[in-house]
Amino acid sequence: MPSPSPRACRTLCLILGDQLHPESALLNAADPAHDVIWMAEVRHESEKVWSHKARIALFLSGMRHLRDTLRGRGFRVAYSSMGDADAAPNLGEALTRAIAAWRPSRVAMLEAGEWSVARELETVARQAGVALDAIEDPHFLCTRDAFAAHASGRRQLRMEYFYREMRVRHGVLLDVQGGPEGGTWNFDSENRGSFSREGPGLLPAPKRFAPDAVTREVMTDVERWFPKAPGSMARFDWPITRDEARAALSDFIENRLPEFGRYQDAMWRHEPWLYHSRISAALNLRLLNPREVISAAEQAYRNRRVPLASVEGFIRQILGWREYVRGVYWRFMPEYADRNALGATRSLPAFYWTGETDMACLRACVGQTLELGYAHHIQRLMVTGLYALLAGVHPAEVHRWYLAVYVDAVEWVELPNTLGMSQFADGGVMASKPYAASGKYIQRMSNYCEGCRFNPAQATGPAACPFTTLYWDFLMRHKSGLRRNPRMAMMLRHVDRMGAEEGAAIRRQAARWLEGEGDGNAEAG
Ligand code: FAD
Ligand code: SF4
Repeated sequence: MPSPSPRACRTLCLILGDQLHPESALLNAADPAHDVIWMAEVRHESEKVWSHKARIALFLSGMRHLRDTLRGRGFRVAYSSMGDADAAPNLGEALTRAIAAWRPSRVAMLEAGEWSVARELETVARQAGVALDAIEDPHFLCTRDAFAAHASGRRQLRMEYFYREMRVRHGVLLDVQGGPEGGTWNFDSENRGSFSREGPGLLPAPKRFAPDAVTREVMTDVERWFPKAPGSMARFDWPITRDEARAALSDFIENRLPEFGRYQDAMWRHEPWLYHSRISAALNLRLLNPREVISAAEQAYRNRRVPLASVEGFIRQILGWREYVRGVYWRFMPEYADRNALGATRSLPAFYWTGETDMACLRACVGQTLELGYAHHIQRLMVTGLYALLAGVHPAEVHRWYLAVYVDAVEWVELPNTLGMSQFADGGVMASKPYAASGKYIQRMSNYCEGCRFNPAQATGPAACPFTTLYWDFLMRHKSGLRRNPRMAMMLRHVDRMGAEEGAAIRRQAARWLEGEGDGNAEAG
């Protein structure tokens, strides 16, 4: 259906590509008789970082589905497609043209999730002399002001204390006295299981959502417009509509949540989903509300269908981590994006874009990422993120990669996770110590090391595992800075006990590896 022909409107209701809830606060306040809904596909949003094809398809398909739903409800929707002959190259230019065409008395929107998008839109509206009202986004359980209040006066932020406050404020998993259900706030120690040598056995396959006609058309457009973008759409089966997102949530609660807690950190070759929910993209696009997700999980526990440790472990991710990273993002942007506390300078190795490396764990995680646009948290943190941390890759390069390759990637959640949690580039805001580990961690949590040509127990020699070599090298390189952190004391004691010769051999091996790896020809020395 073509966009309505330009004429004046009262309010131009701007909907961004990650604000796709069909009942949002913005839409509920909109008047179909006088207001116009405005949505724009713009090339720049898919190109400012190199984006996975499935990520572009998910956003565009979600937008086109919402466009059709709203038109069906009688709204006037001005929708500009990337394929239009006069399509604007970026969001600012698109809004400038829309204001000129519709001459609204105001522009209204839900607050933008990304710092630079918010500034760009404010600038355009100011230059056009039109008021821009950014409504607080009720999707989140913690407002930016509430997070600022939590943070003010604290010398150090810690997710755990924020999470406890959120549990109490929202009455989640509390016992009759108002304390934590089960007597403890956190069952983290029960969330670290790995599989035996036999592996996970028969896993409950997640519900798939075959692409409908709208999505298939988008996929054709993406192949035509972005032929060189990374990743594949061959296995695209993400929920795109609100109904599909709810079905995905029910499927998870019913079939995978019971074992989610125990195997949250485990990894297994050729098993990308294990017991994970696959709902991050649906949440970030606002197709699911975190409240309904939390409430469905808690209800499953109250109905005695799911153990407390699983439910608590899952709710902690949504009510704790997800809200916490958003708080950190808005509190510290824009300077946060430039942080590089460990002074890392290296380039991202080429194999992050191909998966072509002898390191079996990275081959599996990068390969899966390019194929599906998905890796679970520990694959992101303790394989791809860990290698970049140990190798000293510049955090801005690591950030660009994570923003590019995952279907759920949006800057407000990706940046603190990458820069802070995984690369320790924020100096300890997100994590109390660097997530540094040797290849032995990966061996314990997965079966990647079986059949790998390297040995996670060795730091030197031809079979040395690069993770293990680089782990010790990392600790030696950053020893003086890390000494101030009491949580690093045990790791550093091992370094202190290491003989001078052994230390020098590891440092030589690390240098040889990185020199080879830097030009994509990694060879152990
Ligand atoms: P599950 O494992 O089933 O977890 C349930 C939900 O909890 C997720 O859907 C997600 O909404 C939330 N969650 C879990 N961990 C986190 C976390 N650390 N921060 C915020 N929310 C969390 N998540 C994104 O949504 N977008 C990103 O761009 C993103 N980038 C990341 C980059 C790095 C380096 C790391 C270490 C993590 C990143 N995460 C990101 C967090 C997490 O890895 C994904 O949310 C999760 O893997 C998505 O898969 P799932 O839906 O199956 O999650
Ligand atoms: Fe990865 Fe090292 Fe294990 Fe190989 S041996 S899979 S490189 S951790």
